[in-house]
Amino acid sequence: MNKGKICVSVCAKTAEELFQHLESATSLADLVELRFDCLDDEYIHPVRERLWEQGGLNRYISTFRSFEQGGTRRLTFSQRKNFWNSGYETEIADVEEDLVEDTFSWVWPHRICSYHDFDGVPVELEKIFHRLRLTDAEIIKIAAKVEDATKAIPIFNLIKIAKTRHKQVIPIAMGEAGKWTRILGLAHGAYLTYASLKSGGETAPGQISADDLINVFRVKELGEATEVYGIIAGNTGYTMSPYIHNAAFKSTRLDAVFVPLQVTNLDEFIRRMVAHETRELELNFHGFSVTNPHKQAIIKYLDQIDETARAIGAVNTVNIVDDKLVGYNTDAFGFIQPLIKRFGDLKDARAAVVGAGGAARACVSSLVDTGAEVTVFSRDITKAQTLAKEFNSSAQKLEAGNSELETDFSTFDIVVNATPIGTRGERENNTIAAARHLQNVKLVYDLVYNPAETRLLRESRLAGTDTLNGFEMLIAQATKQFEIWTGKPAPIDEMVTAARKRLDEC
Ligand code: NAP
Repeated sequence: MNKGKICVSVCAKTAEELFQHLESATSLADLVELRFDCLDDEYIHPVRERLWEQGGLNRYISTFRSFEQGGTRRLTFSQRKNFWNSGYETEIADVEEDLVEDTFSWVWPHRICSYHDFDGVPVELEKIFHRLRLTDAEIIKIAAKVEDATKAIPIFNLIKIAKTRHKQVIPIAMGEAGKWTRILGLAHGAYLTYASLKSGGETAPGQISADDLINVFRVKELGEATEVYGIIAGNTGYTMSPYIHNAAFKSTRLDAVFVPLQVTNLDEFIRRMVAHETRELELNFHGFSVTNPHKQAIIKYLDQIDETARAIGAVNTVNIVDDKLVGYNTDAFGFIQPLIKRFGDLKDARAAVVGAGGAARACVSSLVDTGAEVTVFSRDITKAQTLAKEFNSSAQKLEAGNSELETDFSTFDIVVNATPIGTRGERENNTIAAARHLQNVKLVYDLVYNPAETRLLRESRLAGTDTLNGFEMLIAQATKQFEIWTGKPAPIDEMVTAARKRLDEC
């Protein structure tokens, strides 16, 4: 258990809404941030009066920020100054630098002096920190937007600097790429981490819900010795892995956490966050899941690669042992295990794999290994040919008609969709094939798992074809990762429950 706090940020337009939110927020959090800038003008005074009458000022942080500082409206300097000096105090005032000397310490028992940058991490970050440090606020908050996990390093390293100056600090890297700072901050000595009341109710970019911070990431239980794992991806916004792996760590009582690491520049990530000789911080990384677009690019950074991953030419799992990076591929195992269970012997089965990306690579390799005859289909025939050639299989172009794909698969026993077509969102109503293209096919295997029933699977049923979605693969590849990282049997039931719960929430 660390000493950090979780602070739920509450932003409401009316008094009624605010007090409703407060009730739920106080039951979840150590502190509640009251975003007075969110309230319509007419409610600000009555809300402060009511809070004052209730005597419930403890555990609240007040903020009243203008638009440029992350607030929800334009406020003049004097409007802000009047707010702070109008005589109602909460336990903590979060005041911007330009006003900190004007908010009186005898009115506000504790003050945060805060700095926000929504354009990126300021070059003079440390200078700004020291400038804020010299104010008489006890706590310094610096929040800056980042687009890549590595850009958040200087923000996170403020914790170390603050310790040497005996100051409390709240370092926040905003945005999806900064989530790791919100999760790991308390373990390293950050004063607090902000949370939203619920998913979808974020008051700043990249904020995580209080429920997830407490029950998924267990942020208050983490320490510097906690083993850190994560998923390296170009976009971590939709990943299920933190939910599945943190549930596994929790149920096996391991002092470990799994975080999203949105990385565009893999080279920088390895150099500045991972490699022993060059890294700029000590997060105690023990392993990674690797996904799009880094599954092949990661190979050159590995000290060792296992035989299966080498044969596939793609790595989705890195284990870190004594600072050495060892690469594995669990996609192939995750893919083939449910397929054999459902289809039986694959020897001489005619399989069409649609897609020529990272997942297709693992599918083709493991199908060929089991004796299936594989044809790779891709909209770009060159990509299909390149992949097929590596695994002694055939290639065909995925034909597109005016409004939909027009490839006939009726000569195949198995059709695998290894493209994102059919995934929840914009492509949800699309399919690689309609029922008429699937006559006589025995099994359609869609790697997509969200939604559980894709249009492709509905079309397959119309054609009388057996179906398999990507959920079992998702779980199987994750259980294998868990076993590689921990050397323990994976708690499959807990992983399945966590994945299903998350899918229901999405
Ligand atoms: P990837 O490396 O980006 O490859 C995607 C492939 O799909 C590429 O060949 C791409 O062709 C093709 N594609 C994309 N959009 C297309 C479209 N509109 N029409 C035709 N082809 C299209 O991605 P990946 O890692 O292989 O993943 C592929 C899918 O498998 C994803 O949906 C992923 O979620 C799923 N997956 C599931 C699991 C699981 O555990 N169930 C595991 C891994 C992957 P171009 O190269 O021409 O763009």
